[in-house]
Amino acid sequence: MSEKFQATVIGGGPSGYVCAIRLSQLGFKTACIESRETLGGTCLNIGCIPSKSLLNLSGKFQKVKNYSNLGIEVGEIKLNLEKMMKNKEKAVSTLTKGIEFLFKKNKVTHFKGLASFISANKISIIDSKKATHTIDTEKTIICTGSEPVSLPKIKFDEKKIISSTGALSLKEVPKKMLVIGGGYIGLEMGSVWSRLGSNIEVIEFLDHITPGMDSEISKEFLKILQKQGIKFHLETKVENITKKTDSILVKTSNKEGKKIDFECDVVLIAVGRKPNTKKLNLEKIGVNLNEKMKIKVNTKYQTNIKNIFAIGDVIEGPMLAHKGEEEGIAVAELIAGQAGHVNYETIPGVVYTNPEVATVGKTEEQLKKNKISYKIGKFPFMANSRAKTINEVEGFVKILADAKTDKILGVHMIGQNAGELIAEMTLAMEFGASAEDIARTCHAHPTFSEAIKESALAVDKRTIHS
Ligand SMILES: Cc1cc2nc3c(=O)[nH]c(=O)nc-3n(C[C@H](O)[C@H](O)[C@H](O)COP(=O)(O)OP(=O)(O)OC[C@H]3O[C@@H](n4cnc5c(N)ncnc54)[C@H](O)[C@@H]3O)c2cc1C
Repeated sequence: MSEKFQATVIGGGPSGYVCAIRLSQLGFKTACIESRETLGGTCLNIGCIPSKSLLNLSGKFQKVKNYSNLGIEVGEIKLNLEKMMKNKEKAVSTLTKGIEFLFKKNKVTHFKGLASFISANKISIIDSKKATHTIDTEKTIICTGSEPVSLPKIKFDEKKIISSTGALSLKEVPKKMLVIGGGYIGLEMGSVWSRLGSNIEVIEFLDHITPGMDSEISKEFLKILQKQGIKFHLETKVENITKKTDSILVKTSNKEGKKIDFECDVVLIAVGRKPNTKKLNLEKIGVNLNEKMKIKVNTKYQTNIKNIFAIGDVIEGPMLAHKGEEEGIAVAELIAGQAGHVNYETIPGVVYTNPEVATVGKTEEQLKKNKISYKIGKFPFMANSRAKTINEVEGFVKILADAKTDKILGVHMIGQNAGELIAEMTLAMEFGASAEDIARTCHAHPTFSEAIKESALAVDKRTIHS
C-alpha cells in the first residue's frame, strides 16, 4: 500500500522547501520530493549561494591587491583556486544540510528521487538506483524550478561551452572568456572571473545590459563595469559557436551587419532560463502550460487541476529565490484556508557585483509607459561621508515618488551595500510610505543609508549634503 500525504511538494528549492515547512507548520502531513542528492534547489547548489561565495572571495582577492595604496602591506598575493572552490563548496554543503535539519525539525518527509504524476492524486518517485516508489497525495505543489537555456544547436559541455553551472566550478582561470548575455547572471559570473584574472568580453543582443532595469542605473552600471576592464559588444548577435583544437570560435554580427569573430578559451552562455516541466508527466493529467512552457496558475497558484498548485521559477514572474519563498508561504496558507498573499510590487532585485545594484518597484520607463506622473530624488554616494571614508564612492540612489501623493513608487540604486540598503525601501514601500516619511526618518551617521534619506529629501529638492 502506498503512503498517503495531505500535501506533496515536488522540488526542494527555495520555493519548495519553504512551502513544505509552512504546510507542515499548518498541520498538513507533508512530503517533499527532490531529485538531487541535496536539498536547496538551484539556489543553494548551483545558483545564489555558490555564486555569492565566489563573488565575495574573488572580490577580496581583488581588493587585497590594492591594500598597499591604503597603507596595508600584505606581501605577495597568489590565487589558490582549488581552496577558493572548496570554501564555496563548504558554504553550499552547510546550507543544504541545514535544510535537511529543518525538514526533520518540522516533520517534513523527504523523498530523494524524480517525481512524476501517475494521476492527479498519485505520484511515482524513481530513485537513483531506479527503484520506484508510489505515494498518494491530496494536494500537490509543483516547485520544479528552471534550468539554463542554450543557443539553438549549441550544447553545454560545462568545460569550454558553459552555463552558469560550469562557471561556478572551472578548474583554472581562463585567459579569455566570452560571456553571451548581459543579464545579472552573466555579469556576476563575468565579474568573478575578471577579478581572478580572466579577460572578459560580453556580447549582448540589446543596446543595453540588465534588461528591465531602470535605464539610468543600467547605463551607470555599464560604465562602472567597463572601467573595471570588462569589454562590452552591444547590439551584437551570436551566429555560431564552434570548438577548435585549443579554443572556441564565436561568430557574431552587429547591427550594421558587420561580422566579428571572437576566439576564447571558454564561452559562458547566460541568455536565460527555462521552466523545468518536462519530466513530470503533466500531459497525462492535463495541467495547462503557457507558450513559454510555464505552468499556468490563477491568483491562488492553482492550476486548471484543482488539487494541483505551482509556484517559483516554474510559473510567471521574476526568477528569484525570494519570490519563490514568498509564494511558498502564500500557497501553503491559501491551501490552509488563510489569506496568503504576495505583493509583486515590492519584490527587490539585487546584482551582487561590486558595486552592487539593487532595485524595487517601478522603473522610470514603466512609470512613463503607464502615464503615471512622478518626482525624482537622487543622491550620489560621492557626497556620502561613509562612502568617502572607505573609498567606495561609486553610484547613487534614485527614488521615484508619485507627483501628487508623494508615495514611493520605485527605488533604484547602485553602490556599496546596495543589496542590504534596499531592504529599508522595500519595507517602506510595503507600508505605503511617502518620500517625506523617509526624509523625516533619522538615519545613523556615518552610514550608506544616509544617501537614502538624502535622496528622499531630493524628491522635494531640499538635500543638505549636495
Ligand atoms: C548562477 C545563479 C545565480 C543566482 N543568484 C540568485 C540570487 O542571488 N538571488 C536570487 O533571488 N536568485 C538567484 N538565482 C535564481 C534562483 O536560484 C532561482 O530563482 C530559485 O532557485 C528558484 O527556486 P525554485 O524553488 O522555484 O526552483 P529551483 O531552485 O530550481 O528548485 C527546483 C528543484 O526541483 C527539482 N526537480 C525538478 N524536477 C523534479 C522532479 N520531477 N522531481 C523531483 N525534483 C525535481 C530540481 O532538482 C531542483 O532542485 C540565481 C540563479 C543562478 C543560476
